[in-house]
Amino acid sequence: MAEILTPDICVIGAGSGGLTVAAAAAAFGVPVVLIEKGKMGGDCLNTGCVPSKSLIAAAKHARAIARAKIFGVAARGFEVDFARVHDHIHEVIAAIAPNDSRERFAALGVRVIEGAARFRDARTVTVLQSCGDEIEIKARRFVIATGSSPSLPPIPGLQATAHLTNETVFDLATRPEHLIVVGAGPLGLELAQAFRRLGSAVTVLEAGEPLAREDPECAGVVLEALAREGVELRAGVAVARVEQADAKVKVVVRGERGEDTITGSHLLLATGRRANADGLGLEQAGIRHDGAGILVDKGLKTANRRVYAIGDVAGGGQFTHLANHHAGLVVRNALFRLPPSLPMSA
Ligand SMILES: Cc1cc2nc3c(=O)[nH]c(=O)nc-3n(C[C@H](O)[C@H](O)[C@H](O)COP(=O)(O)OP(=O)(O)OC[C@H]3O[C@@H](n4cnc5c(N)ncnc54)[C@H](O)[C@@H]3O)c2cc1C
Repeated sequence: MAEILTPDICVIGAGSGGLTVAAAAAAFGVPVVLIEKGKMGGDCLNTGCVPSKSLIAAAKHARAIARAKIFGVAARGFEVDFARVHDHIHEVIAAIAPNDSRERFAALGVRVIEGAARFRDARTVTVLQSCGDEIEIKARRFVIATGSSPSLPPIPGLQATAHLTNETVFDLATRPEHLIVVGAGPLGLELAQAFRRLGSAVTVLEAGEPLAREDPECAGVVLEALAREGVELRAGVAVARVEQADAKVKVVVRGERGEDTITGSHLLLATGRRANADGLGLEQAGIRHDGAGILVDKGLKTANRRVYAIGDVAGGGQFTHLANHHAGLVVRNALFRLPPSLPMSA
């Protein structure tokens, strides 16, 4: 028979948003269950902010050495040991991981369950564990904090061509000779700059405007800096197809001047993110969602009033600090019935 739990709060997803809700609820002595199907810490710790900022920190050191002579400091060339850069990234993740660990949360009083959560009906979530046992959770309130995943465009040939996303790029232990990045949003460009500073040739392809959502004047400053540092950026070009050519990757692009082919050693897709709303049984729970994510009101409640959605899955901005802010609002509302809609600065 399935184990049945009846906590006050059940949180689905142990990333930035979910961990914050669980820790706060536990601190107030509220019974809370936290369900995670992958690694504790979610995207930010494992495949997002932490590894990307660790890579960028390494790249900044390389850049400082490269520019040292402007300040009258002689550095006779330098080498990048990319295997060591890889190790540095994973050491930083490992140093932070205990904060987000199952053990720490269990010690805070949170019941942590490993497995994929799914709504059976409007009041029940089930988790099938790897041992085959099922746990049923009937909570007073549920918080969906399942994050987002890379959204891959339907590029012909992509399935048969080796490609990287944020979920795999930080596992590289050798430096790409020539990295082709598809997508000139903040994620694509921060990685493009970091790899360039560490010595890779980098080409960025963008179908529309680079940094299209940013203030144009600020975007211009960033794009000029990237050009100065040797990142080749081609805007207004669509990727027509990609193909694997032995160890190389060929990308055929279509622009105003017709088609041409760029050959690189690695292909990185940074073409946006999609909310992790599939497989949650949202229909069974009466929770509405669209292509951008789960639909919520200004208090982050879904169409099912028992259920909140926060962070990347809630379809707004996709940032760790926003997921944390959402978590704070939900804790105020779910535990203290305080009005949820506060400005970001509050
Ligand atoms: C390369 C990169 C760099 C970034 N850099 C920054 C940055 O510098 N600053 C910043 O603010 N943001 C940054 N972000 C964005 C940031 O990582 C996310 O906004 C943040 O992690 C979202 O938190 P979340 O709690 O919504 O989801 P996540 O942290 O992704 O957590 C969701 C968790 O839910 C789990 N899950 C999913 N479905 C289920 C299920 N059915 N059952 C159980 N568990 C489930 C997942 O395994 C995951 O662990 C970056 C993202 C990327 C990709």
